[in-house]
Formats: sequence, C-alpha cells, structure tokens
Amino acid sequence: MSDSQREILFLLRRSPRTRVELAEFLGISRPAVSKAVGGLLDLGILREPAGRTSPDGSVRYRKTRLSLNSEYARVAGLHLLRGRVDVALSGLDGLPSLRKAVAFDVAEPWTSVVDRALDALASLASPASPNDGSPPQWIACSTPGPVDVENGRLLSPPGLDAWHGADLCGFITRRTGIPCSLEHDAGALAILERDHGLGARFPSFGLLQVTGGGVGSAVLLEGHLFRGVSGMSPELGHMAVQANGRLCSCGSRGCLETVASGPALCRRFGEDYDRRDPGIVRYEAKHLAFGIQALANLLGLSHFVLYQDILDSTEDLVREIGRFVGIDGLYRTFRPLEVHGPMAPDPTPGHSACALAVDRFLLDLSQRK
Ligand SMILES: [Zn+2]
Repeated sequence: MSDSQREILFLLRRSPRTRVELAEFLGISRPAVSKAVGGLLDLGILREPAGRTSPDGSVRYRKTRLSLNSEYARVAGLHLLRGRVDVALSGLDGLPSLRKAVAFDVAEPWTSVVDRALDALASLASPASPNDGSPPQWIACSTPGPVDVENGRLLSPPGLDAWHGADLCGFITRRTGIPCSLEHDAGALAILERDHGLGARFPSFGLLQVTGGGVGSAVLLEGHLFRGVSGMSPELGHMAVQANGRLCSCGSRGCLETVASGPALCRRFGEDYDRRDPGIVRYEAKHLAFGIQALANLLGLSHFVLYQDILDSTEDLVREIGRFVGIDGLYRTFRPLEVHGPMAPDPTPGHSACALAVDRFLLDLSQRK
C-alpha cells in the first residue's frame, strides 16, 4: 500500500471526504488521489455512493464522499480490569456492536480467565450472532498500568499481581491464530479521542485518566502516540508535585498519584469522601493542573482531555482545572490551555479497545505489499 493510500485510510477513518478534499488535505494532485482511491476501492476497503451521470453519459464522482467500508473486516477489543474483562466486537467504524463482560476471581489463573474471555468473543462472533459470523481479524487488549507494548506483555496491572509478566498477546494469538496487540488504557483512550473525539480538531493533545487505581496519561503528537525510549511514557502519575511528599509505589516521593488518585483522596478525605464536595474538587483540580502545566510546558501542548471516575462531575473538575491553569500557567498570556471532558461518543473501555484494534489492523494492512 502506498503512503498516500495509508494517509487516505487514516483520514477517512474519521469522516467521509471527497476526492477534492483529500487532494487538498494531503497536498497531492487530484489524479494521484484518484489512482490511490481506485486501488482502495478495488480492495473493497472504501465505500462510495453511486456517482452522478452527466448529460454526455459519463459518470462524475467529483463530489461523492468516500468513506471507510466498516464491513470490510471485524475487530475485537478486550479490556482487562481487576475482576472483569470487557469483550467487544466492532466493524472498522470501531463502534462495538456486540459486547460481553466476563467476571473472574483474582485467584483464577490468568490463562483460564483469558480462555473464558476468548470463549465469550467466539460466541459473539458465531454464525448465530446478529452479524455475519466472520471472526475478528485483529484483537486489541487494553489494561491499566504499564504494559510492554512491543512484546504484548503485562507489567504489574493494578490489583492483579499474578498477571505480572503474562505473555497476553502471545497466548491469545496461539489460541486463536488472530494477531493481537496491547496498550495501556490511557493510550487506548487517546486513540479513541484521536479518531472519534478531540483529534478531529487537534492532532496533538494530552490525556489524563484518573481512577481508583492511579493516574494514567498519554500524549498524542501529530496523531502518533508518544511512548519514549521505555515504550511506557509519559508517566505523569509519577511526576513529583510535592518536594517531600508521601512515598510512592515507584520509590519516589510526592508523585502526582500520591495526591490525586482515588486512593489518595480516600486517605486524605476518608473512604466515603463526598464526590461532589467543592473543596475536594478544587484540591483535585489544583494537583491535576500541576501535571497538565508540566506537560504543556514540556511538549508545547495546548489541549488536554480528562477521563476520571473519582468525582461525580467531570464537568466541575474540568472547570476548576481551567481556572488553575488560567491563573499561573506560563501559557496563559499567549495561548490558553484548554482542558476538556471526554469528547468521543460512547467513551467506554470496550469502545477504546475496538478503536485500538481498528488502528492496529489498518496499520498492519497498510504495511502489507
Ligand atoms: Zn511514583
């Protein structure tokens, strides 16, 4: 597949476009776009409404909008949490059409849990399912905590010590014959936002995910996930925000995670803290603003999206963060930092895992000869 075809797939994943729009966006000639599009139409991965017939009998396609053929392939997303695996199946639109949740006891061997999740996936993809029963062509897994993206291995998922080092992707591919990839869940949400949310307006942004497990983060630079040398960056949750703060699980002191995660709020305000208390919202916002400003200053980011489940209202938290970054951010004088709540429709783990699977499937397809 040519570079132009790869870029066309990437653009059409977000929204339908005409050939003229593609040529303008990619900065290449219209004949070059037509040639690239022709190859993709022959492959069946693009869809095009019937062209208009001119008085002279020729068919004109100039204004027809091309889109990705969602039925070209099915993909699957597996989101692993402590005690539950969410299994979802989608077409290339990345919207899960079928879902199932598989509950498990943390004492159960991981291979047995994954086998049960794959059984659930097989039942979703069976001929009796509402779709055509074809198996997924890619499986993407997402999970909290650091992961070894390159080798598809888990690294210390929160609350699942026995899963440390599990060769998740290798196991799944051996069991199913289907290629598999792994991403930490903040990275998966960033891909979801890129393709179906904030990314429609900004190719570069940061994402924070604050949960009862910790503080996750991801950075998209010009549409690509930034991973750093370790493959695990950024780890905003382990950026020090208090000089002599509490000892963190990573060995440092005063990490953002020690003050702004769900467990940190429980320690400070009690297990049953009021999730709507304006004082707690302000406390949380102040610390998250430190992290956001640090990333903004380091990488020149101006937009952030926040996912959280530790307070009742993301909207209130986002508003408070906006106030803090507006008071003392370096950026405030020439480019305001904008913080948003989730912008993707259906911002669920199943959806983000499917978006991830679409991303990896198309990348793999585009690299084939
Ligand atoms: Zn730490």
